[in-house]
Amino acid sequence: MSSLIVYQNYVHGQYIANGTGETFEVINPATGQVSYLVETATEAVQQAAIVSSKAGFATWSKMTAMERSRILLKAVALLREHNDELAAGEVLDTGKPLQEAIEVDIVTGADSIEFFAGLAPSIEGNQQTVGDDFYYTRREPLGICAGIGAWNYPLQIACWKAAPALACGNVMIFKPSEETPRGAMRLAEIFTEAGIPDGVFNVVQGDGRVGAWLTGNEDIAKVSFTGEVGTGKKVMAAAASSLKEVTMELGGKSPLIIFNDADVENAVSAAMLGNFYTQGEVCTNGTRVFVQKELYPQFIKRLVERTEQNIICGDPMNPETNFGALISKDHQQKVLEYIEIGKKEGATLLTGGKALQPESAPNGFFVAPTIFTDCTDQMTLSKEEIFGPVMSVLTFTDEEEVVERANDTRLGLAAAVFTQDITRAHRVIHQIQAGICWINAYGASPAEMPVGGYKMSGIGRENGSETLKAYTQIKAVYVGMQNLESPF
Ligand code: NAP
Repeated sequence: MSSLIVYQNYVHGQYIANGTGETFEVINPATGQVSYLVETATEAVQQAAIVSSKAGFATWSKMTAMERSRILLKAVALLREHNDELAAGEVLDTGKPLQEAIEVDIVTGADSIEFFAGLAPSIEGNQQTVGDDFYYTRREPLGICAGIGAWNYPLQIACWKAAPALACGNVMIFKPSEETPRGAMRLAEIFTEAGIPDGVFNVVQGDGRVGAWLTGNEDIAKVSFTGEVGTGKKVMAAAASSLKEVTMELGGKSPLIIFNDADVENAVSAAMLGNFYTQGEVCTNGTRVFVQKELYPQFIKRLVERTEQNIICGDPMNPETNFGALISKDHQQKVLEYIEIGKKEGATLLTGGKALQPESAPNGFFVAPTIFTDCTDQMTLSKEEIFGPVMSVLTFTDEEEVVERANDTRLGLAAAVFTQDITRAHRVIHQIQAGICWINAYGASPAEMPVGGYKMSGIGRENGSETLKAYTQIKAVYVGMQNLESPF
């Protein structure tokens, strides 16, 4: 008889049984062991979630924005109060280092809710005179929104989607990745504790089939999706059947461009952050590292030195560990296959390139931080999102050339430029086809800054005041001030 904890779906402020007892396993990537079980959202749960969300919307959308804001800020305080415990839960689900989760995952989730809670009362319409008559506009919520999350930043993604949705008076049904279901459940509990009415944030659990149900459901007005490009296409096609609005946060193959005059240590820091943070499982990663030829020898020497000396791979719960386990055995195999393809296609492997079995976590799904050089634009390594700790270094001669090569991809999520030349920095970044850009920085994503992709990396934005528009719709109200003229 299993002694594992079994979580249920969170609907209307409480956990509810799915009626069939059907469950799925959640595995700790650092140990390979099953951590807990979760009940799948059966049709009964799905219907309950819709009924609950309708009731939640009736209550929540009638509150003033100031009232909603106050409650959301209580949730922010609770998230911060429980930071370390929530971060530990994220580590057990994702395999990422605790030192990251403690500093980033919960903090940035809470920041987003705080940001939108602050903005909510400022949402306003306008009024315009038309002769003696006038019209005014109201920004109204959309209704029930669906959130579908990826597994790399589970709680943060749930916060980033819930924050603008709830601040604008919508309700959300959220489906986390079945690999990382815990963060969204904890968020739902915290929302309830903060006083958010039942039905405003429901969590349904399961795999892509539950996601597909959400995207096809006619009671749902919008879907905000984070995941792979291929899944995003399916979600958008399904959303079209009921003419849902969509926000798509998809994958990337982002360029990191380093000019000869760049500060070498900062450029190496960016390349390592942009490839090895969260063991390479970050959508904005700068996996195509373009280095200008004269700087290349110095850059590559320091890059390999620092990678071999400073990465501490092991049990992610150890605060010293700065490099964790990949999400699953399957994903580990996929990343290792890309490494083999890289070797076969003629790239030079400088370091890494294999699975690791650290003493403190011998059964985890680790892949060593891997650096390939002599990469060309045509190689699979330079074209496909690997979503693991695999960096491709390419060299370039001049600015025009590197801009063209950097843009030679159907993806356009992020990009960065390192140079001391201020005009070149802006000139280059303005020509890059990407939605999230950095100059002499990598990875920073404060709640105030809108983030999202160009081209096939996405549609719409998360964070930033822009996003409020994506969670409201305009109602225009014309007011007649005189007798109505009519030919009838
Ligand atoms: P994924 O395989 O596309 O899955 C994303 C979510 O979609 C999961 O919850 C998944 O459920 C669900 N899903 C699968 N099939 C579905 C369907 N037919 N209809 C509706 N939902 C469906 O992506 P992932 O492997 O979890 O995450 C990695 C990807 O996310 C990478 O490409 C990364 O770049 C991207 N990402 C982008 C951003 C951004 O902000 N742009 C941020 C983080 C990650 P199950 O997993 O439970 O099957």
